Amino acid sequence: MTASPRAAKAYKSSLKPVWCPGCGHFAVLSAATKAFAHLELEQQDVAVVSGIGCSSRVPAYMSTYGFHGIHGRALPLATGLKAMRPELTVVVAGGDGDGFSIGGNHFLHACRRNVDLTYIVMDNEVYGMTKGQASPTTAPDWLHGKLTPQGSGTRPFNPAAIALSSGASFVARAFSGQPNEIARILCEAISHRGFSFVQVLSPCPTFVPAQKDWKQVVRAFDDGPTGNAEEALRRVHADDGYSTGIIYQDDHPTWQPTLGQEVDVAAFEREFAI
Ligand code: SF4
Ligand code: MG
Repeated sequence: MTASPRAAKAYKSSLKPVWCPGCGHFAVLSAATKAFAHLELEQQDVAVVSGIGCSSRVPAYMSTYGFHGIHGRALPLATGLKAMRPELTVVVAGGDGDGFSIGGNHFLHACRRNVDLTYIVMDNEVYGMTKGQASPTTAPDWLHGKLTPQGSGTRPFNPAAIALSSGASFVARAFSGQPNEIARILCEAISHRGFSFVQVLSPCPTFVPAQKDWKQVVRAFDDGPTGNAEEALRRVHADDGYSTGIIYQDDHPTWQPTLGQEVDVAAFEREFAI
C-alpha cells in the first residue's frame, strides 16, 4: 500500500487501548486508521459503531464519530444510521461472541439486505472480556478450565460461509499478524458499495495462548476474489479457516430507503388505535 499524505494517527483518539499485551486487536485498530488515511476520509464523515466486548472498544480509540452500543446490536444501530445518513462511511467493529451469538440474527439480515456497511469481526474464537467462555467459533474440543472442561462439543459457526449464504456482496478474511494486508482489504471493503464482511483472525493470547501459532498456519487463498457465490462457498468449505484474502465480491443492489418522504404520524397512530 502506498504512503498516504494523511497520517493514520490523525484518526486515533488520545485514549490508550486497555487491551492485553499481544492482543490481535491492536493491529486491526492500526490497519483501520491506515485504511481511513489511504482513502483520505474526513473524520466527520466516518462513524464507527460497535456492541460489547474487547474489540468493541474500538470506537473509543478513534477520533471519528463513534457509537459504543449494547451487546450484539451494533448492526441494527449501524443500519439505522446508514439509512438516515447515507453519505457517511459507516464501519462496524466487534467480536465473534457479540456478532455471531447474540448478534447472529442481525448478521444474517444485514447480509441479506446488503446494507452499505463494512463489518469487521475480530475473531478470536472466545469471549475475551468475560474471561474465556466458548463462543460460536470455538473449536468443539477446546478445553478451558472449569468453564468447558470437556470442550463445548458443538460445531463452530463458519462466518464466511454464513455471510455468503445470507447475501453479503463482499466477503474477506484477514489475519492480525499481517496489518498491511488488513489495511488493503479494508480499503477495498470500504470502497465497495454493499455489505462488506471482513473476518479478521485476531488472537487472544490471554485466554487462548495457542493462537500465537496462527502465524504458522495462515496463508493466502490460492485464487483471487470470485463473483460466483457457489464457487466462493466451495472454496470456503474446502478451506480449514486459515486462508486469507478477498473471497467474494459482486454488485447486487443494496438496501437503502428513500429519504425525504413525509410521514403522517396521526394517520399512522389511527391505524394502530385500539
Ligand atoms: Fe485481547 Fe483477549 Fe485481552 Fe481481550 S482478553 S484484550 S481479546 S488478549
Ligand atoms: Mg471473541
